[in-house]
Amino acid sequence: MIKTTKFLPFLALFIFTLNISCETKKETGFTTTSENAEVEKEPFKFWTWITAEKTRTDASFDEEFKKYGDNGLDAILINTYGDPELLARLVPIAKKHNLEVHAWMFTMNRPGDKVAEQHPEWYAVSRDGKSCFDEPPYVGYYKWLCPTRKESREHILGLIEGLAKVEGVASFHLDYIRYSDIFLPIGLLPKYDLKQETELPEYDFCYCDVCTAEFEKEHHKNPNDFTNPAIDMEWKNFRLNKVKAIVDEAYKITHENGKILTAAVFPYPEMADHMVRQRWDKWKVDAVLPMIYNVFYNEEIDWIGYATKQGVEDLKGRNTELHTGIYVPEMTVNQLKEAINQAKSNGANGVSFFDGPAITEEQWQVIKASQKP
Ligand SMILES: [Zn+2]
Repeated sequence: MIKTTKFLPFLALFIFTLNISCETKKETGFTTTSENAEVEKEPFKFWTWITAEKTRTDASFDEEFKKYGDNGLDAILINTYGDPELLARLVPIAKKHNLEVHAWMFTMNRPGDKVAEQHPEWYAVSRDGKSCFDEPPYVGYYKWLCPTRKESREHILGLIEGLAKVEGVASFHLDYIRYSDIFLPIGLLPKYDLKQETELPEYDFCYCDVCTAEFEKEHHKNPNDFTNPAIDMEWKNFRLNKVKAIVDEAYKITHENGKILTAAVFPYPEMADHMVRQRWDKWKVDAVLPMIYNVFYNEEIDWIGYATKQGVEDLKGRNTELHTGIYVPEMTVNQLKEAINQAKSNGANGVSFFDGPAITEEQWQVIKASQKP
């Protein structure tokens, strides 16, 4: 019990970090149709994730974006909390500094969503019957919506359309496009006395009436009756496909609006499947930005290369680019240099840093130097 208070802030940082993602560009090279399988090789691309508060002035954004432009970044992924007006305000400022803009949004996890909050039944329900509406797992802002229910899906897709319509935006960027973590990173478990050796009921979603009824209709068995739901492959696959269905619909919406679709995802497909029920190598998506944040998994820098390579292999034959997400705050300059090299030499199309404001002057020097051929 004593460790609970220590656990939450660290976990919050971790979860927040995992939510950051990136996007692709349209004007500078991404194709917007899947017909062009043979596209000219793009130059290695540099991105960063940032969050924008609408109370800030244009001058303050201009100063921040200038720094990114001056240091050679190609693209910024902006979280405006789903606000199209703020996004539209930021596009010209970013363009001034030659930055592509990608509309980054928390997708299935919707903390602070005033519309969703009017509908408690839209929220995902755990195997032990708790709703993310009032009893979220792990942290207070884990407000996951049900991916099956018609109304919650339409709400999410409507938000995607709103941002996809903003002029000058290159892509819509999906984040938290998954279920809540059934397993947290192994590095955190002993440190905080949290044991997750099996799929525990309080972290297992979604067992709402709509999900279980739809599954039962299709498979003639009810997940609430399973002794060990983790070994029922149809139930697992049902949930993987529920996430995929939202992604594929988002792809349609973004392309109809002349934009492409990008997504922040877990390090590589099997890992994403195991930890958060996210099988991104099967999605319709133009680019993925796997968050290969080695420090959260107790892994070394070369693991960034390992995970990058696995993702690139798994995407072979699909028209999806992979840009490696790097968590910069705890990296020395040498580690950062090596991380970028690991991504490059293992087939990534670019790298994205989390997050922009956290990058130090020394790290900027490394980023600039790594752009030279
Ligand atoms: Zn549900």
